[in-house]
Amino acid sequence: MSGYILDSDIKFLPGVGPKRAQLLGKELGISTFRDLLYTFPFRYVDRSKFYAISEIDSTSAYIQLRGTITRTEVMGTGKATRLVAFFTDGTGSIELVFFKGIKWMQEKLKAGEEYIVFGKPSVFGERYNFVHPEVEPVARAAATPVNHITGVYSSTEKLQGGGITNKTFITLQKNLSQILKGRIAETLPDWFLQQKRLIPLERALHDVHFPPDMYSLEQARSRLKYEELFYLQLALVKQKFIKMRSGEGVILNRLGEAFNYTYSHLPFPLTNAQKRVLKEIRADVTSGRQMNRLLQGDVGSGKTLVAIFSALQAIDNGHQACIMAPTEVLATQHYNGIFRYIDPERVKVALLTGSTKAKERREIYAGLADGSIDLVIGTHALIEDKVQFNSLALAVIDEQHRFGVDQRSRLWSKSETAPHILVMTATPIPRTLAMTLYGDLDVSVIDELPPGRKPVVTRHVGENRRRQVYEFMKKEIDAGRQAFVVYPLIKESEKMDYENLEQGYLDITDYFRQPDYITAVVHGKQTPENKAFDMNLFVSGKADILVSTSVIEVGVDVPNASVMVIESAERFGLAQLHQLRGRVGRGAEKSYCILVTGYKLSKESKERIDLMCATGDGFELAEADLKMRGPGDFEGTRQSGLAIDLHIANLGKDSPILEDARSAAIDILTDDPLLEKDCNRLLRSNLKTNSIIDYSKIS
Ligand code: ADP
Ligand code: MG
Repeated sequence: MSGYILDSDIKFLPGVGPKRAQLLGKELGISTFRDLLYTFPFRYVDRSKFYAISEIDSTSAYIQLRGTITRTEVMGTGKATRLVAFFTDGTGSIELVFFKGIKWMQEKLKAGEEYIVFGKPSVFGERYNFVHPEVEPVARAAATPVNHITGVYSSTEKLQGGGITNKTFITLQKNLSQILKGRIAETLPDWFLQQKRLIPLERALHDVHFPPDMYSLEQARSRLKYEELFYLQLALVKQKFIKMRSGEGVILNRLGEAFNYTYSHLPFPLTNAQKRVLKEIRADVTSGRQMNRLLQGDVGSGKTLVAIFSALQAIDNGHQACIMAPTEVLATQHYNGIFRYIDPERVKVALLTGSTKAKERREIYAGLADGSIDLVIGTHALIEDKVQFNSLALAVIDEQHRFGVDQRSRLWSKSETAPHILVMTATPIPRTLAMTLYGDLDVSVIDELPPGRKPVVTRHVGENRRRQVYEFMKKEIDAGRQAFVVYPLIKESEKMDYENLEQGYLDITDYFRQPDYITAVVHGKQTPENKAFDMNLFVSGKADILVSTSVIEVGVDVPNASVMVIESAERFGLAQLHQLRGRVGRGAEKSYCILVTGYKLSKESKERIDLMCATGDGFELAEADLKMRGPGDFEGTRQSGLAIDLHIANLGKDSPILEDARSAAIDILTDDPLLEKDCNRLLRSNLKTNSIIDYSKIS
């Protein structure tokens, strides 16, 4: 197998050595030959053409110029010390700027000589210049002509500083490609390559780094993308098939008093979508197989009731259930809200969070262990080792993207027979992403909001018009409504973000004076008691305004709130904005979402804000978000604990390949579930070595 050579330490590659190896490891995570081989260019440059300086404009990407250096000069002092080389090609002149390696470059660059310059022009004042371009004398460049198409690899300042320029990188790839020649084992069976018209792996891996032409490059990229997505799907589908065949589940046949009492006392009829999903769940929990179901439903679609009715089925059959929420605020709200629907005499419910007092905690542990507690609602506190159930038959995980895979799996192990799992998310996940993130789960969708919801009117307002926003809030509040004001909170800028929130709070309390107006404030720096106190002020309607960070993003339900003001809205992602907006529009009144931004907006921010104003459809926004930002940034992807570490495929753009790969995986596994046939041997061995994700931990 080629595994052996590919696993070699990168320091043994000619041109690397221990020092560069360390740098490559630290900056790009490259520690083996394989890592380098699978570090693909993120862009390609056609270096067959020379640009004229007069052609350069703000849209120019990486380009090459040919011309003469007229003189060089060291300018500036301290950090701004730089070498400037004045370069002309007869159509204009431009400055080449070097902040590092000044002495070395000064010796290298000679006035009056001809050079080829390669780099990306940047704007400096009124003019364009090149910062740290690659520069090579024409004579030498001619001796080693550059490929037609050259890859551009991602780099960092430290790599550049350590002498690993793009050119060095290409040299390393070249050295590697020579060593690996004839030693890369094919990973897909012949019949499959033919059927899917894919080129061999070795050629693809060569051409992706050194494309002879554009067509070959496309073929190489398709092959690599296909392989990547195919093995991902093969693993997921296999997992799903195994579960379908062997995952034994507790049978929850009986619909008893707990369920029926609640059902007959509902203050409103269930929506058709809620009923449909409950039927799907019922089919699962009576089947004898373990349920693994993802429930997607836009904010406000009524997922909580589905969770409650699922739990009640477990309870009616003499078992226990739990509902796990990502934050204490949410868990507490679930707990308080549940008594609107269930009778505490019939169903014994407990709340377990990080701030549950020791004595109560012990009582809850005991009640769970002896089975006297039917339903426990809580946070991460539920998965601590001390929590032992008498008979856990069903676990609901709300807003699941906040939980890591590990944490979920710990819940699984709390019962002899794995409990039925219902994972709920309000982050609408585009199909392609769902197929990858949750390819092993069954999916239900609540695609209908409870009746009477009016779309939330969404407006974009510049921050210089904040006074008008306050006036508008006042009108709503005076009419008996409540308002949210949300500030972004990001780790990297935490200190400043808190300052903004504090300043905002002062402004608001200055405008909305006590005792006529009460303003509550909730953020991560408060003690849990203070947080709960202020939260309750708002939930109970005693406070008119809730100033907070994005902690209220998920779940919080205050039907009387009609205004959502989002400060620095440009700093939120689409999914987050949509979540926040979903906090209003839950009562019968008309509701408003006001996106306040600074004056200067990047093109992307503007696009996001405009989209928010244009549509209220969460799925539409999610698709757009995925296209705009890619899955790496997709809300929830990171936190989900699922490393979708794709090298080349893009879930936003490659959905046709993904769909094809998934159906191929299903066909193959339907025919040969354990990949035992001879023709699938290669698939089986690569499925193991290709374990990008530890699938065993997902469920
Ligand atoms: P989410 O799906 O965002 O978790 P919730 O379960 O919090 O939504 O429900 C949002 C609101 O809608 C709650 O106030 C809930 O009582 C209400 N609700 C749920 N189902 C219905 C229904 N069928 N008819 C009317 N209101 C409903
Ligand atoms: Mg919810």
